[in-house]
Amino acid sequence: MPIPTENVGSLPRPARLQEAIAAYDSGDIGFDELAERQDAACRDSIERMGATGAPIVSDGEQRASSFATYPITDTLAGTGLADNLAADGQYFAIFDDGHHRQLPRLTGGPFRYKTFASDYLTKSAPYATRPLKQAVIAPSMLCLLYPLDDELDGYPREQFLSDLCDEAAKDIRQAFAAGAARVSIDFTEGRLASKNDPRNPWTGRRMLEQFIELNNRVIDRFSAQERVNIGIHTCPGGDMDSVHSADVDYAELLPSMFTMNAGYFLMQLASEQDKERVYRLVGEHSRDDANGVAQVCFIGVIDPLNPTVEAPEQVAEDLVTASRYIPKERLGSTDDCGFSPFSIDDKPKHGSPDFARDVAFQKITARVQGTQIAEERLGL
Ligand SMILES: [Zn+2]
Repeated sequence: MPIPTENVGSLPRPARLQEAIAAYDSGDIGFDELAERQDAACRDSIERMGATGAPIVSDGEQRASSFATYPITDTLAGTGLADNLAADGQYFAIFDDGHHRQLPRLTGGPFRYKTFASDYLTKSAPYATRPLKQAVIAPSMLCLLYPLDDELDGYPREQFLSDLCDEAAKDIRQAFAAGAARVSIDFTEGRLASKNDPRNPWTGRRMLEQFIELNNRVIDRFSAQERVNIGIHTCPGGDMDSVHSADVDYAELLPSMFTMNAGYFLMQLASEQDKERVYRLVGEHSRDDANGVAQVCFIGVIDPLNPTVEAPEQVAEDLVTASRYIPKERLGSTDDCGFSPFSIDDKPKHGSPDFARDVAFQKITARVQGTQIAEERLGL
């Protein structure tokens, strides 16, 4: 496909799976029963995503507690929390509807992932008949596990960051080894880093540049050839049909974001107020040579928080408009975010997770069809 199109990662978990997670947390079912439901949901995700015509698919992260916490806990309620962690860490984000999501807190070293994305991918790969993508979490998110100000006894911050980078690099490398054709790094904290929300202290610490530097410490361990298939996802959040940082101007993020030496970027844009202005910024700041790779810019053409399915015609129009600012050979299409980054997600605007799941596949179909229309219009 001349204009590449790729999803971010997650899909709404079926109500049946969400019930099983709750039953597992309360001890009513064992892990084997939960794993069976996860397997069924992954298989269904891969099959239905394939039926949309998408050239690359994912298992919808049906086994993950969330896009951010999969390496360190089995469930969002904290069942199976990894060693050296306590439940009461920093808020990762406070969303516009008032709900929040909290990270665990590191209590000592060494920091190790308990689960790698490849552990999930290995189980899902046999179901796939098309190339698979895998999303992983950025080290810049997990660095928030370490206390904001204090040093931990016997485990200095720099030792933690060094361990974290090792684990994050291993996560990416193992995902490729397990069969991922593409690996994208979730970087939702990037935009939030410029929010300065007094209820959430880390957002006021101007951490964006150190986030970027930390992520590059990992990305730069990969060759240019490998980085062609390593992406970055940016968004203003997407949980319970709400966002956390849509009010932060992209102009605060994009110039820094494109200094990461990744080969492609999956960017929320469908729900942006002034898309054309952001297309221009993307065109200005993305690089055709990021240490040997051209940065391909996947613009968001689907809004997972809105139950109305986009018309393929609208998708095509967005891409054609974007092509005035972003070189055609570096243009792609994506969804604004994962459809359900957190395993427990009520989807209030959608009414139910099962309905949201049906809608998600319709939206992916619209993205694929609209991208094909754009290719024809752009003579690709
Ligand atoms: Zn996102």
